[in-house]
Amino acid sequence: METFDVAIAGAGLIGASIGFELAQAGLRVAIFDRRQPGEGASWAAAGILSPAPENAATISMVPLGRASLALYPEFVATLQEISGRDVGYRAKGTLQALLSGEVQAKLNTIVALHHGLGLRAEPLSADDARELEPALSSELEAAVLRPDEASVDNRALTRAVAIAAAQAGVKLFAGRPVQAIRQDGGRCTGLIVDGEKIEARWTVIAAGCYSAEIEGAANYAPVRAAKGQMIALRAENASIERVLWSEHVYLVPRNDGRIVAGATVEYVGFDKEITAGGLQKILNGAVEMAPALADAKIEETWAGLRPDSPDHLPIIGPTGLDGLLIATGHFRSGILLAPITARLIREWITTQSVSAADWTRFSPMRFVETGKGTNS
Ligand SMILES: Cc1cc2nc3c(=O)[nH]c(=O)nc-3n(C[C@H](O)[C@H](O)[C@H](O)COP(=O)(O)OP(=O)(O)OC[C@H]3O[C@@H](n4cnc5c(N)ncnc54)[C@H](O)[C@@H]3O)c2cc1C
Repeated sequence: METFDVAIAGAGLIGASIGFELAQAGLRVAIFDRRQPGEGASWAAAGILSPAPENAATISMVPLGRASLALYPEFVATLQEISGRDVGYRAKGTLQALLSGEVQAKLNTIVALHHGLGLRAEPLSADDARELEPALSSELEAAVLRPDEASVDNRALTRAVAIAAAQAGVKLFAGRPVQAIRQDGGRCTGLIVDGEKIEARWTVIAAGCYSAEIEGAANYAPVRAAKGQMIALRAENASIERVLWSEHVYLVPRNDGRIVAGATVEYVGFDKEITAGGLQKILNGAVEMAPALADAKIEETWAGLRPDSPDHLPIIGPTGLDGLLIATGHFRSGILLAPITARLIREWITTQSVSAADWTRFSPMRFVETGKGTNS
C-alpha cells in the first residue's frame, strides 16, 4: 500500500494549489484525478478575480475573496517562476456597465455597498466610462469602476499549478478515480482509488462538483453542478482592456486578443451540452454592452460545471472525521479563491490553526449540523 502525508481527490485548480502549497511546506503529497489534471471547471472558467458580492447570499465571502485577491500577485509570480509559464494575469480592474433602469439609484447602491465592504468602487459618467472603454455602447447610462480587480487565464494558470506541484514533488496520478474515503478506528486513513488502498495521515476532498459522489464525503460536501456556457470571441473592430460586466453578461479580455463572454447558470445535473438558448443569452448581452461585437468571430464555445453548495458559499476545512478535510463548493469564485484555500488547508494540516478568523463559517460541519447534508 502506498503511504503519503496527504492524499487529495481531484487535480483541478483547488486540489493542485493545495498540493503545491503542502509540498512546498515539505509534505509528501499525492493527488488522484479520474481524468487529466485541470479539465474540469478550472479549465472552463472565465478567470475573473473579483471579491465583489454578486448578491446578498455571498456578502459573507467578501473578506475571503479580498484576502485571496491580495495573495494573487505573489501566487502568480511564484507559479510563473517555477513552471516557466505565463498565466495571463491582468490587474486592470473591472467596469460595471449600467445600461437601463433607475441608473442613479443603482449607481449609489452599488458604490455604497462596495465601500461598506471595504472595496474600492468609483462612479463614472457614461462619457468617462467610454473614454476608458470605447467599445461600450452609446446606450450606456453610467458605470462603476472597480480598480483593484483583476483576471487571469485560468487554463494557463491551472496548467502552471499542476506543473509547479509536480516540480515541488507532488505525485500526480491521472486517470485514477477516487471511489471512497478509507475509515479506520473512527478516523479517515486515506482513499480507495480504483480499488487500491492509499494510506495518508490527511485526506482532502477537492473533486469539484463530483465531490459528493465520493463515498463517505457527501455529508460534508453536499455540492451540485451549476452549468455555465461560455463563448470565446475575436473582434477586429473592438478592443477591451478591463473586465466588463452588465446585468446579463461579462466580457473578459485575454492577452492573446480573445474576449471570453459568459455565462449561464443552469442546474441540469452533470450535462455539459451547449444550447442555442444559452448562446443566444450570452451573445445578446455581449452585443448589447459592446455593439461592435456583432461582427466578432466566434472562436470557441464550451460549458463547465461549477461546484455549488446549498448556501452558495465554499466548503473549506476539517470535518467531524479526524484526518478528513474538504475544499470544494467554490461555485463562481474558485479561481479567485484558490490561493487562500490552499493557504488555509496548509495552515490547518501543518499547525491545526488558521490565520483567517472567520473560516468556521465555511466549515463542512455546517451542513451536518443543520441536517442539510444530503444533496437531494
Ligand atoms: C463557466 C464558468 C465560469 C467561471 N468563471 C469563474 C470566474 O470568472 N472566476 C472564478 O473565480 N471562478 C469562476 N468559475 C468557478 C471556478 O471555475 C470553480 O469554482 C473552480 O474551478 C473549482 O475548482 P475545483 O478544482 O474545485 O474543480 P474542478 O476544476 O472541476 O476540478 C475537480 C477535479 O476533480 C476531478 N474529479 C472528479 N471526481 C473525481 C473522483 N471521483 N476521483 C478523482 N478525481 C475526480 C475532476 O476530474 C477534476 O479534475 C467558473 C466556472 C465555470 C464553469
